[in-house]
Amino acid sequence: MVYTIQALPTEVVHLITAGEVIDSLASVVRELVENSLDAGATRIVLSISPEQWRVRVADNGCGMTLDNLQRAATAHSTSKIRSCADLWRINSLGFRGEALHSLTTLASLEILSRHTEEDFGWQVVYGSGGEALRVETVAIAPGTVVTVSNLFGSCLTRRQGLPTVAQQMKAVQATIHQIALCHPHVTWQVCQNERQWFTICPAIKIGQLLSQIIPQIKHADLQELKLEIPERNSCISLVLGLPDRCHRHRPDWVRVAVNKRIVNSQELEQTIISAFYKTLPRDRYPVCFLHLCISPEQINWNRNPAKTEIYLNELSYWQEQISGAIEQTFRINSHTIKESVHTTRVGQLLKAAEEKGNYNFNRSIPSEGNTTTPLSLKAVCQINNTYIVVEHPGGMWLVEQHIAHERVLYEQLCDSWQILPIEPPVILYQLSPSQVLQLQRINLDIEPFGEQLWAVRSVPALLQQRDDCAEAILELSWGGDLLTAQVAVACRSAIRNGTLLSQQEMQQLLEQWQRTRNPRTCPHGRPICLSLEEPALARFFRRHWVIGKSHGI
Ligand code: ADP
Ligand code: MG
Repeated sequence: MVYTIQALPTEVVHLITAGEVIDSLASVVRELVENSLDAGATRIVLSISPEQWRVRVADNGCGMTLDNLQRAATAHSTSKIRSCADLWRINSLGFRGEALHSLTTLASLEILSRHTEEDFGWQVVYGSGGEALRVETVAIAPGTVVTVSNLFGSCLTRRQGLPTVAQQMKAVQATIHQIALCHPHVTWQVCQNERQWFTICPAIKIGQLLSQIIPQIKHADLQELKLEIPERNSCISLVLGLPDRCHRHRPDWVRVAVNKRIVNSQELEQTIISAFYKTLPRDRYPVCFLHLCISPEQINWNRNPAKTEIYLNELSYWQEQISGAIEQTFRINSHTIKESVHTTRVGQLLKAAEEKGNYNFNRSIPSEGNTTTPLSLKAVCQINNTYIVVEHPGGMWLVEQHIAHERVLYEQLCDSWQILPIEPPVILYQLSPSQVLQLQRINLDIEPFGEQLWAVRSVPALLQQRDDCAEAILELSWGGDLLTAQVAVACRSAIRNGTLLSQQEMQQLLEQWQRTRNPRTCPHGRPICLSLEEPALARFFRRHWVIGKSHGI
């Protein structure tokens, strides 16, 4: 066969590349909203009519002059970068100069815009090559209104490839949610078929936004941390669901944003999930939104046109910082104490304690210095040989002794997994080859000892003195990784509930527990501590009823 290679006509090139940027209603929304944000908008009103394939985005951003309006939709035109060097200084969401032009190729585009310094605005209707077809003056407020209609009208097969309207609208909503989380100062009003669909109010704290976006999550269940890294001129913002209070059955809310854009970063998402390891119940995933603000020369956004994939310099450095930040957020200390909500009855008091407890949700924790100040905890007494009543300056706690100790031992074991020789050896009977292999994998010294018998000559330090050592080793042989073995040993060795503790033992346990990296849950994910803070107690006992000094007020 004879063929010739020819350069493609520009329209064909544009049609091909347009499809890379705009492939759905959600991608139209993403591109238009990002333009509004780049224009400094603080209020964005969207209207989506999926059956008409129409999206309208109105903003109160800086608007465009007539000159810029006429150029806005021509191919590869942008106000955001000029040179190659600018690609390493990207502070805007857009920079490729493709979106509006692609939209003129795939849909009808009309823009109304009034520049902040002008007295009136302009309405421009664009042709399919991005040229301004019709220009008229209009009276509008400063800002921009972009209307895209008849999306994919010129290439109907694209519509057929898309999922149902409901699914597309779900994707649109998810897109808006994600962008809103990265821009907490913006007010969003979203209509579907000209009827109000949802709104998002601006918030000072990301946690307040997250609880608007995921209704099942209460703001009280979230903890925030902002960590400045001055030597890198960077900052890590974290909002996470406290592991004793909220988690999900899918990792759908482990989200990472870099410089105001949600990205798909398997590596960073995995770092987050790993930081929650052994703090959540089995098969549950954390809620965590991580926002990395780093200097733009660290990032290459040109991995895909939607900019959802990036190349990040020094990935392992960031992974380390993130793990450290999450660990810091788990801690319980004087800065994470917070007032509880109203309580009127015991039930509500307990509920309030669960909801607000001892954590600080409204203040960001200072990143250094006194965050590590331990609370002064005092063991008061033991109830039912199971719970330790703890007094601290902000109220009281009930700490379950077994799981608090389990947490202490588990972290000790993670820090030093010591295998010590045991004499005489523990003899085990009828082990399967995989059990033997498993014991070798966690570094136990095991060898055949005769017909169906094995001798275990070294065991984890904590098990050495135990009467149930053989049973414990059998448990370890059933599989799992080293961490699973450490949990099993910690659980077996921890003080049982029902054991009477002396004052000194309780005090020592509390102090050890407070120093753990994650005092909130045991390695199986159970909450360790129920908190009854002073403000909740004061409300419950109606301390604000001024009855008289003689009543001890
Ligand atoms: P990019 O965002 O990559 O620059 P676009 O095709 O999305 O490319 O937009 C082209 C240009 O039009 C932008 O660089 C910007 O100057 C201008 N523009 C688009 N939307 C708006 C808006 N809502 N407000 C102000 N200017 C806008
Ligand atoms: Mg853009």
